[in-house]
Amino acid sequence: MAILQSIKGFKDILPGETELWQAIEEEAKSIFRHFGFREIRLPLLEKTELFARSIGESTDIVEKEMYTFQDRGGDLLTMRPEATAGIVRAYLQHKLYARDAVHKFYTIGPMFRRERPQKGRYRQFSQINAEIFGQASPYADAQLILLLVRLMTVLGVSDAEPHINSLGCPQCRPAFRDALTSFLEGISDALCSDCQRRRVTNPLRVLDCKVPGCREATTGAPALKDYLCSECRDHFDTVRRALEDQGVTYTVDDRLVRGLDYYVRTTFEIQTGALGAQNAIAGGGRYDGLAGALGGPDIPATGFAIGLDRLAEIVGTLRRPALPHPTLFIAALGDQARHQAFAWLSRLNTAGIAADMEFGDKSLKSQMKRADKLGASHVLIVGEQELEQGAVTLRDMTSREQTDIPVDTVADRLMKQFLNTGG
Ligand code: AMP
Repeated sequence: MAILQSIKGFKDILPGETELWQAIEEEAKSIFRHFGFREIRLPLLEKTELFARSIGESTDIVEKEMYTFQDRGGDLLTMRPEATAGIVRAYLQHKLYARDAVHKFYTIGPMFRRERPQKGRYRQFSQINAEIFGQASPYADAQLILLLVRLMTVLGVSDAEPHINSLGCPQCRPAFRDALTSFLEGISDALCSDCQRRRVTNPLRVLDCKVPGCREATTGAPALKDYLCSECRDHFDTVRRALEDQGVTYTVDDRLVRGLDYYVRTTFEIQTGALGAQNAIAGGGRYDGLAGALGGPDIPATGFAIGLDRLAEIVGTLRRPALPHPTLFIAALGDQARHQAFAWLSRLNTAGIAADMEFGDKSLKSQMKRADKLGASHVLIVGEQELEQGAVTLRDMTSREQTDIPVDTVADRLMKQFLNTGG
């Protein structure tokens, strides 16, 4: 019978890779702590309406990528394609704004989008998200970008560069949208079929289409930066100055419009050359209108999402994480020895010492091989005969030195020797 395979675009992350993911997550969590962010954990399923209302009906995600189904009670539900909508929903539902004027959240977990799978693009992928609520200030945007830069530096991703843009606000964007729409009308024939549609439903999106013909045709398109009102221009200038003060080099990218409807003012991406076409490791921006659009009070907000799968692929080419290995392996021979060995092992594990043993009835040779494979630094050899004689043997796998230890002192001796070895 053929073995069942995972779903297309859904991948397994196996031991060997998980250590790298954990290392990245630990670095991120530590930086979040320093920057004043707290963790929030939310459901993977939300009502479909939440995403339709927040992300926008005319976005690729809502139009064609969501995993949506009716549950047995007839409710229309969606596997979250991104985290922001759910975080805003929870923020409003629990009236967190009434507890404190400012909230800084992070969350790490899977997202689901039915995109065409390719390297760096999956149907289930993970993100590290951060959101700041209650801060209209450009310094909040700058802090998010600096946090991303810090994480990339710590992880050794040296070619990561912030690309930034301003999308203006509901006051100044309509004029830009009009100018862009008339420009696009003039070059309509040169656009791909998706952009023919976007031209009418979501014209800004034509600017970030990756099809070469569309890029060429839109080279002379109007740029948002020429349409910003004075508040938006000041906001953008402050973000830029804050980055420059920290020595961060960045690119101002007129095409950075991003796919989600709720962005205003600052928008940014962290790009790298390491992944070919999927060059964005993180993206984000300001979404001041979203809380209000979802029926809550008008609360400014800004945030980002890091693509953890892509980040892990890049970091994986730069460094190998230290794989965990037991400090001690216990090789037991015979039932009685195994029983005693298991008692010692349990005591060591409980005390926080990384130790392991073979539970089955295997030869000494095969157990030594296994100890070697696991990378144990020491092996305790416990045979029936040794037990009867009242001493067992501790072998140092590097120096090959062997020491006899009296049975009644084994537990204490091992505790003392291994408790502070970091195992
Ligand atoms: P977005 O939520 O679309 O702004 O995406 C934020 C980040 O998530 C991107 O910069 C990517 O690194 C990552 N990402 C988005 N979609 C996918 C996907 N289908 N597979 C893997 N990573 C993704």
